[in-house]
Amino acid sequence: MTEVVVATKNPDKIPEIEAMLGAVLSDLVIVRGLDWPEVEETGSTLEENALLKARAAAEATGYCAIGDDTGLEVDALDGAPGVHTARFAGPAASYAENRAALLSALAGVDDRSARFRTAAAFVTPGGAEVVVTGELAGRIARQERGDGGFGYDSLFEVDGETLAEMGVEAKNRISHRAQALAALADALARVREDRP
Ligand code: IMP
Repeated sequence: MTEVVVATKNPDKIPEIEAMLGAVLSDLVIVRGLDWPEVEETGSTLEENALLKARAAAEATGYCAIGDDTGLEVDALDGAPGVHTARFAGPAASYAENRAALLSALAGVDDRSARFRTAAAFVTPGGAEVVVTGELAGRIARQERGDGGFGYDSLFEVDGETLAEMGVEAKNRISHRAQALAALADALARVREDRP
């Protein structure tokens, strides 16, 4: 049995992580209810931030830990907001303020191509580390559409539909986080089986 903690303050992420990893690693048990000081996301990449969160949780709890970090990368903005996605409109910006800032930054811009990228890291208390990424390509809509989801979902279109319009189940089948978790499950299964 492998016991892991999930290094997130967002409880909604835990069932998603449990379902994705549990499908591949049947002996995985997520330990809940532990707490540790939140780590500052000082990394210059999503991978570094995912590792920072997982390392802090592994160190504080003595369990293996999973950390993740997501960024929105907009081509016309040279990959911004990237690691600054949660605070695009300022340090304590709300989701709505961030979406408004993105629409203003892209006012009059025709190239709307973008991607969500998630880095997912697994760290053992002994210091072994695995980090992988998953991504979802799409376009930034000219105005918000749809009621579901969170963050930038109502502005991020895949095949003409925003993530907020497509609903959580459809989103979770294709999402950047789902792809990162699938890659992480695969990497962990390979480590276990000791194959390249
Ligand atoms: P985090 O690393 O998961 O905390 O994500 C950083 C920021 O990216 C969040 O504050 C959201 O604004 C945005 N974000 C992350 N995942 C999603 C998503 O699935 N849809 C829309 N926005 C997201």
